[in-house]
Amino acid sequence: MMGARIAVVGSLNMDLVVRVPHMPIPGETVIGSDFRTILGGKGANQAVAAARLGAEVTLIGRVGDDDFGRAQLRNLGESGINTAHVTVDPEAATGIALITLDASGQNSIVLAPGANMRLTREDIDAAQDTIVQSDVLVLQLESPLEVVAYAIDMAYAEGVKVILNPAPARPLPKETLAKLDYLIPNESETALLTGIEVTDLNSARDAAGRLREEGVGTVILTLGARGAFLASAKESVHIPGYNVEVVDTTAAGDAFVGGLAIALAQGQNPVEAVRYANAAGALAVTRLGAQPSLPTRQEVEAFMKGKS
Ligand code: ADP
Repeated sequence: MMGARIAVVGSLNMDLVVRVPHMPIPGETVIGSDFRTILGGKGANQAVAAARLGAEVTLIGRVGDDDFGRAQLRNLGESGINTAHVTVDPEAATGIALITLDASGQNSIVLAPGANMRLTREDIDAAQDTIVQSDVLVLQLESPLEVVAYAIDMAYAEGVKVILNPAPARPLPKETLAKLDYLIPNESETALLTGIEVTDLNSARDAAGRLREEGVGTVILTLGARGAFLASAKESVHIPGYNVEVVDTTAAGDAFVGGLAIALAQGQNPVEAVRYANAAGALAVTRLGAQPSLPTRQEVEAFMKGKS
């Protein structure tokens, strides 16, 4: 296997999840059950996704000087990820998400990004050597936009491929979009960025075209069970998803982004890379949870062989 060096700039969170019979109204106390703490944050999830698929991964981010931050660092280290550029912030807490799940399957989430939103340009400068020596830089939007844009500028100037997963979606400056090799939104992020609801392949083509007009090199819309739609200067193509039994769709997008990053870093062409990413995403939905559901390289290869 060719080595694949991937730098990820992004978030690290701890998800605190509890089941409730119904959502509390203001002032109400509801007795919940099945409390769990789950390592999350899109940056950490995508870093773990790529590492499990065999990439050499460095994560650049911030945690607090607390138990959740230490749990993140330990877990990332055990996944073989370089955490030298995960700064321990002395003042802010590690990012957390308070998640309540009710009996009807609805969730409600309170997110406190904490240290994630205190990532600075200096943190990016400190990781410059790693970023410019990477094959691919992967980013999301759970970090300060200005710092995300700064890291993109750095990678762009050095010819490092840039992948942005615009989650959670927010409007992006045109000069940043123009420096992206790959933009990977899901359907709701696409709607926010373009105003186009993706309901079929025609609307996918329209939305991808709109983002290409903003200067993005290759747009890859993820379409859940339907796979992905890729649009570049060379081609516009729907790459169907794999048919699998769905257990839990959490982290499908993170598995997809991690899979795409390693496949591109290894020199696969974009359509092949999307096929690989579809397989990683499909395997993730067949299992429960976020990071525990992320597949290994061997699992993806065996799965693709079985399907071809
Ligand atoms: P997100 O999880 O960010 O909302 P998607 O739902 O579009 O993103 O899923 C990301 C990718 O995961 C899809 O492009 C596809 O490859 C895979 N995937 C998601 N859901 C399914 C499914 N039900 N069956 C097969 N593959 C899926």
